[in-house]
Amino acid sequence: MSCVQKCDFLITLLVAHLLTSTTASQMVPALVIIDVQKCFLKGGNLAVTDGDAVINVINRIRTTWREVFKLVVLTKDWHCQHHVSFASSHEDYSPFSDITLRYNSQGQLCDDEGTNVPSTVTCSLDETTKAVEQKLWPDHCIANVTTGGASSEIAEGLVTTRTDIFVLKGDNCQRDSYSAVWDNGNFTVTKLPEILKSNHVTTVYLVGLALDYCVFETAMDIKQLGYETYVVRDATRAVAEDTGMSAVSTMRSAGVKVIMTADLNGLLSSRTETSFSRNSQATPSPVILLLSVSLIMAATLKL
Ligand SMILES: [Zn+2]
Repeated sequence: MSCVQKCDFLITLLVAHLLTSTTASQMVPALVIIDVQKCFLKGGNLAVTDGDAVINVINRIRTTWREVFKLVVLTKDWHCQHHVSFASSHEDYSPFSDITLRYNSQGQLCDDEGTNVPSTVTCSLDETTKAVEQKLWPDHCIANVTTGGASSEIAEGLVTTRTDIFVLKGDNCQRDSYSAVWDNGNFTVTKLPEILKSNHVTTVYLVGLALDYCVFETAMDIKQLGYETYVVRDATRAVAEDTGMSAVSTMRSAGVKVIMTADLNGLLSSRTETSFSRNSQATPSPVILLLSVSLIMAATLKL
């Protein structure tokens, strides 16, 4: 084989490898906006302190990175009128108190005394049941309610577009769902994992309310599903400071990256321009190095 032939062969290999490696390292990001609904904002029955402040931050992220976040998912807490998470659905319980719920093996809520949730079932004492700890909340985010403190409407002023995808959570009357993936008893999964999978998403950026409950639980589940997971801290607010700090610590331990909006410049800019990961640009692989050396040697021998 002449040098010209060798060079052609090596160049073909090099190009093939470059194409393969860049395709494999391509990042496909999704922005998931958790529960930015009126019930969690000023005037809402479960208003998160300073929750309204996330609206402008999220809008800015959407505007700045419009070309990067082709997929934007908005979740909605979406409860029936006598939802299991409402203190009003349990006699002698007040908002923010805790209760232990029992479910049978089919995930149906047991008919424990004083519970007014619809369609509960009788669970015999010898039946195996699953206990789920539940914090009770004021009535909030009731499905299709558009006015008053329990409104489930998306916040006025939050930018949405025609292509946004909405995912409902907590829409089973007997189960609460902090996570936008699994309900609190891990009985059922939402359509979010399928949406991420079918759009070939690799990296999920989470924003919204509240940091210490729904953002936290969603981030942990998304990470567990194998996605590179980011929480944009200044685009969230917590129900309480201590639980917010605890959530951040737990997420970081689990490998979730907790960042600020300003960090998006470094994370997304280079990927926008090239569609390739920063690592693939910065560090040539051993195969590329070997082929490059071979090309130089072949050219040298010919000379
Ligand atoms: Zn809820």
